[in-house]
Amino acid sequence: MSIHPGRIHTLTPLPYTGGPVAYWMSRDQRADDNWALIHARNSAMASRASFRVIFTLAPSFLNATSRHYQFMLTGLCETERALAERNIPMYVILGDPAEIILQFIRKHAIKLLVTDFDPIRIKQRWCARIASSAAIPFHEIDAHNIVPCRFVSQKKEFAARTIRPKINRLLDSFLTPFPKPASMPSANMRGHRRNNWDAIASSRNTTMTAPEINWIVPGARAAHTRLTAVIKTTLKRYHHDANDPALDAASRLSPYLHFGQLSAQRVALSVDTAADVPPEAKESFLEQLIVRRELADNFCLNEKHYDIPAGFPAWAKRTLAKHAKDKREYLYTYKLFEEAKTHDALWNAAQTQLRREGYMHGYMRMYWAKKILEWTRSPAEAMRIAVRLNDTWQLDGRDPNGYTGIAWSVGGVHDRPWGEHPVFGQIRYMNYNGCKSKFDIAKYIERYGAST
Ligand SMILES: Cc1cc2nc3c(=O)[nH]c(=O)nc-3n(C[C@H](O)[C@H](O)[C@H](O)COP(=O)(O)OP(=O)(O)OC[C@H]3O[C@@H](n4cnc5c(N)ncnc54)[C@H](O)[C@@H]3O)c2cc1C
Repeated sequence: MSIHPGRIHTLTPLPYTGGPVAYWMSRDQRADDNWALIHARNSAMASRASFRVIFTLAPSFLNATSRHYQFMLTGLCETERALAERNIPMYVILGDPAEIILQFIRKHAIKLLVTDFDPIRIKQRWCARIASSAAIPFHEIDAHNIVPCRFVSQKKEFAARTIRPKINRLLDSFLTPFPKPASMPSANMRGHRRNNWDAIASSRNTTMTAPEINWIVPGARAAHTRLTAVIKTTLKRYHHDANDPALDAASRLSPYLHFGQLSAQRVALSVDTAADVPPEAKESFLEQLIVRRELADNFCLNEKHYDIPAGFPAWAKRTLAKHAKDKREYLYTYKLFEEAKTHDALWNAAQTQLRREGYMHGYMRMYWAKKILEWTRSPAEAMRIAVRLNDTWQLDGRDPNGYTGIAWSVGGVHDRPWGEHPVFGQIRYMNYNGCKSKFDIAKYIERYGAST
């Protein structure tokens, strides 16, 4: 079964006429339910060529900490085993990704390079460098979105309401079952030595450490277990409970989705067909999983300033400029924010949840980012601090969802003007009393504690 042509974006306009194929696995770190892997493997099998997977491990990456590397490497080790069972060798090589890929192409005489789609600036730059230097066909496959990001829209969308009908029109064509996994001939593994994961783990030179977390088990198998449990339990009341931080009823699938240990398409297919889950719950969950998530990819792909105020809509820039000199009642440094040492017990509890678990409830993420705007000197400083904290501490950080969620909270991206408030101007405002009337903040604060 070949993949939908709408998933394929050609980075070098050259035809593949046979010969060794490599899949540069990057964002979608799984052996199953992966359209990029399927496309690469199908191409190799059709021309009876060899097929390899390569993962490049950058020595440091967008504030990633030991916590992120541990989660990712454990998942990759499982992926290597699953691939080996299908006679697909996986190479993990440390260093500058574009340089490694170019060397790999030369060393293994690769004739078709496939990678997965990621709108984040750094991955787009690596791809551009490889495309300009390698004289072979290079295909980028969207294995992360259900409806491929480049296919659904060729421009920056205004809001969920503008992308939703475009996604819905195409959903039936793309939300299709995955083909059964197929194996390569055993000769495809010949001469390959498995990776030494201890050596790989100790070769990272990240100096940033974070306490390990134990509420989540890394890897594709654990991701599927979690998905099954969510469908059996909290999903049924998602439409009522997911927005209540005191109930903790959201799926917590985001780390698995971020590292591509779980396919969003697999999640959507499982939710779609789940028995005993009311349609309102399915609809509300799929709105987040599909529309909001794909809108974030659309923003990061089409707005190069996705993490600074230059990427805000014109009305938001104007209103924030008008309030630039407003008095800030509190001002905090990065360190005080990081250590959860503000005057606000609710904010501190959210930051404590983040530090302790590498996860923060979705509703609290909005409050958390908006208060950073309120308690810093400028929207630019707020963006810098929020992005750095998010990328450093969220296990699902360094993701289009994060950059877009922060730009939504601080800079009105995908939102509209609301009533005027000091500092915020017409950016949607949130405050402590609003949270108090919405959920049991005492319960949330008690659970995570405040460090003031
Ligand atoms: C300031 C701020 C920062 C954020 N940072 C990140 C981040 O770093 N990484 C990240 O993945 N998400 C981020 N989000 C989006 C969202 O809050 C998280 O995806 C969600 O809370 C993850 O928890 P969950 O898996 O339990 O979500 P659930 O409610 O169970 O949702 C299921 C899935 O839908 C997607 N989703 C849910 N809400 C959103 C949303 N608002 N935008 C886009 N996709 C969504 C996610 O993939 C999520 O895993 C951020 C939002 C804000 C406002």
